[in-house]
Amino acid sequence: MIYTQNNPCPNSGMSMEKKEECGLFGVFNNKDAAVITSMGLLALQHRGEESAGIAVTDGTDMNLHARLGHVSRVFDTARLNNLRGNCAIGHTRYSVTGNSNDKNVQPLLVDIARGKIAIAHNGNLTNSKDLKKRLESEGSIFQTTMDSEIVLHLIARSRAESFKDAIIEAVRQLQGAFSLLFLTRDALFAVRDAHGVRPLCLGTLGDSTILCSETSAIDLVDAKYMGQIDPGEIITVTAQGIERESIFPQVKQASCIFEMIYFARPDSLVFGESVYKFRKELGRILAEESPVDADMIVPVPDSGVCAALGYAEQSGIPFEMALTRNHYVGRSFIQPEPHLRKSFVRMKLNPIKNLINKKRIVIVDDSIVRGTTTRERVRTLRESGAKEVHMRISCPPILHGCFYGVDFPDRSELISVRMSTEEVRTYLNLDSLAFISHEGMLRAHKGCNTFCDACFSGAYPIPIEKDFNKESLSCR
Ligand code: AMP
Repeated sequence: MIYTQNNPCPNSGMSMEKKEECGLFGVFNNKDAAVITSMGLLALQHRGEESAGIAVTDGTDMNLHARLGHVSRVFDTARLNNLRGNCAIGHTRYSVTGNSNDKNVQPLLVDIARGKIAIAHNGNLTNSKDLKKRLESEGSIFQTTMDSEIVLHLIARSRAESFKDAIIEAVRQLQGAFSLLFLTRDALFAVRDAHGVRPLCLGTLGDSTILCSETSAIDLVDAKYMGQIDPGEIITVTAQGIERESIFPQVKQASCIFEMIYFARPDSLVFGESVYKFRKELGRILAEESPVDADMIVPVPDSGVCAALGYAEQSGIPFEMALTRNHYVGRSFIQPEPHLRKSFVRMKLNPIKNLINKKRIVIVDDSIVRGTTTRERVRTLRESGAKEVHMRISCPPILHGCFYGVDFPDRSELISVRMSTEEVRTYLNLDSLAFISHEGMLRAHKGCNTFCDACFSGAYPIPIEKDFNKESLSCR
């Protein structure tokens, strides 16, 4: 039984569809499981502003609530009080195109022969089409278009004795990027793909166990960070304790470097490394590689702040928050008609004119993807009287799409695919433009992680099925 909008789980209104970058949070053995999970999800809101959901178990039955919207809108006190139980998993989902519908939510809760199970997934499977085709030819009927449902079908079909063995059998058939949380009536499971593409970490809060995407969520619930879930590992949490087991052949770690550059929160440890320190180091290296004579360093808030601090420190040029961000304009804000676009950009980021006027400024941001937003930002800076506008970007040009969960547009829409750096500079109307070098980017990290940098290099560490179509729903 799959609970959907038309067939809701009792006391819930969940429905489902695809996921992209997402935030995961799970807690085992806590009387306030739903409340703690909602707090954890708040700390992971940046990983998915589209929808939020929580599944709970009280040891006897499972319950779920998941809806479109921010965590604080989806969950109020009354709703959380209805989600009774001492174990929970939660999910926040990232919007891709804005054509959101109320099916695009997780966790996904199903009732199979061995009992109820909920799944929350971060990442992208790269063999979902093949798996789905095979399952359908053997009689499976899919009710959603999420690749996460495939995992549930594989679990449902398993003849293995326990839920744990069925999960292992299922995930061993997956290819791609997956950090997964599963909740059953009496156990919480976490699985990370063999390459460790997406993050997943472990914490403790008194006698409770926490599993989540980033340590910012561990901090928020006042838990203690206990380290990462290793690539290729399954963690089983039951009343008997925590078991850890490696379930995939060892392969070279390929953690997503874009998590470190852009996606994760700067106050998080991701892949065991400080995101803040990494980004600041990127800025420092960028200043070494591409210095410029200017009056002030201005970050694009929030994405460019840490790198701009590093750039300013290294260059000795003053750092100014000359672009002010309006925190109330979310990603989901409806894109206005072209004649209102200028106001829209200002609505999000407004330049402080008297700071900028007649000054030579260096704007620092983490990345240029399509170039459309950046162009508008440069225009507002010019209109504010900037004498020179230089731009420094703390990642190399993005030249390839991501099949593992980061929402980049089709390759043809990536500005650095269509234009050389000099052409991008002209298009953006900049006095100078520089990206950090590939080697400089890799030098910024001090730990022992190895990364997937396919969006820059085109070297994809995990095979992708032949006719993988980024737009195909079956592949999400
Ligand atoms: P654009 O000028 O349109 O390429 O937008 C660049 C801005 O988008 C930068 O400030 C980035 O921080 C931000 N950005 C980077 N990657 C993504 C992504 N995958 N989805 C949405 N925004 C992104």
